[in-house]
Amino acid sequence: MASSGKDFTSGKRTPTGKKNASCSFCRKSYREVGPLVEGPEDVYVCGECVELCQSILDQERRRRGTPHKLFTKVPSPRDIVTHLDKYVVGQSQTKKMLAVAVHNHYKRLMLNTDTDNDVEIEKSNVLMIGPTGSGKTLIAKTLAKYLQVPFAIGDATTLTEAGYVGEDVENLLLKLLHTCDFDVESAQRGIVFIDEIDKIGKTSNNVSITRDVSGEGVQQALLKMLEGTVANVPPQGGRKHPEQQYIQLDTTNILFICGGTFVGLEDIVARRMGRKMIGFGQDNSSHDDKHRRYEMIHDATVEDILEYGLIPELVGRLPVLTTLSKLSESDLVRVLTEPKNALVRQFQKYFEMEESTLEVTPEAIREIAKIAIQKDTGARGLRSVIENAMFDILYELPDQEPGKKYVLTPEVIRGESHLFPQDGSAAA
Ligand code: ADP
Repeated sequence: MASSGKDFTSGKRTPTGKKNASCSFCRKSYREVGPLVEGPEDVYVCGECVELCQSILDQERRRRGTPHKLFTKVPSPRDIVTHLDKYVVGQSQTKKMLAVAVHNHYKRLMLNTDTDNDVEIEKSNVLMIGPTGSGKTLIAKTLAKYLQVPFAIGDATTLTEAGYVGEDVENLLLKLLHTCDFDVESAQRGIVFIDEIDKIGKTSNNVSITRDVSGEGVQQALLKMLEGTVANVPPQGGRKHPEQQYIQLDTTNILFICGGTFVGLEDIVARRMGRKMIGFGQDNSSHDDKHRRYEMIHDATVEDILEYGLIPELVGRLPVLTTLSKLSESDLVRVLTEPKNALVRQFQKYFEMEESTLEVTPEAIREIAKIAIQKDTGARGLRSVIENAMFDILYELPDQEPGKKYVLTPEVIRGESHLFPQDGSAAA
């Protein structure tokens, strides 16, 4: 072993020869703190101080954003779609468009780290238009998880332009920082999903009655962030104030996905295309008519979105436009059963945890889908339909005798019967 006092890396342990050796950092003797590591010139450090130093360094590294390795290989659009298919039913066009956008985005990120590169590809933020419960948030969330990048969801309606009551747009970035434990480098390549972007339209074209009066101001505030800027994020959230210390976050490589239902956009499309939709949209028009009219949303252009009330600068920063379909009854049947974490499987898991089994008949699944369609909240309504029907049994189950089988039928879903164990006295 190297002689003590010269080579710190020699890592000599407790200096047995020196009775009064103490940690040079906390001054405690080795009798108090245990073994010491000896460095040059009578310098010693104890275990506690080593741990403390380690956490200080980790914190500092996170604060400065020491470069982390991005993926070695960006998944191909096909890989991305294959993965999305495991969780998201239908919406194939949107899946493909997003897969391409996301692939290019992260490919571009890898390219931009290469200094020889002189062609800079601009990022492609995404605008997703689709009804409630059609999978907008689900797609964005699933993508971020697959790519293992930080992901945050924000709601445009809670944002206001600086100076008004509400949240600053930087709070969206704070959410992103929270999800990755304030690792600035990771946050800078994360994905932010901004929901309800349609609710911050200008008030001039009154298509929606839920318009926020300060909508245009919020759009302006979002512009810079979407394009790429070094934003000052207040670490405590809330309103900025002058004495506050900020975390600087460069948004250039953050992918923004904006989502909205854009209620009534199909009317703008229909008007532009000169279609007279006799009977469509009326209270007495059939579900199919409404569905067909809604499908016109797929023909929406940038001009239609401008007419809806988004400002051109904002739309210009969302170059990928994709529309989602309303989920049909058979789509909802698939949502209930096919995805990896499908609702029916989740409920079956509850029963499994109580050592019982739950069988859901195909007719019951269709009934659940049918009721959800009537509610017109897409796949969002499915859970509450099942929960309403099963509330009593979910309450009772942990006290029931284990090993029983329960069969969920359309009658139980409609509330005409209770869910009893099949070999019980009153099988449903
Ligand atoms: P929104 O389009 O309103 O953002 P979400 O993505 O939040 O809808 O979906 C709400 C719920 O419905 C989620 O729990 C999700 O699991 C389910 N869901 C919605 N669309 C789909 C879909 N296409 N495939 C599978 N599940 C879906």
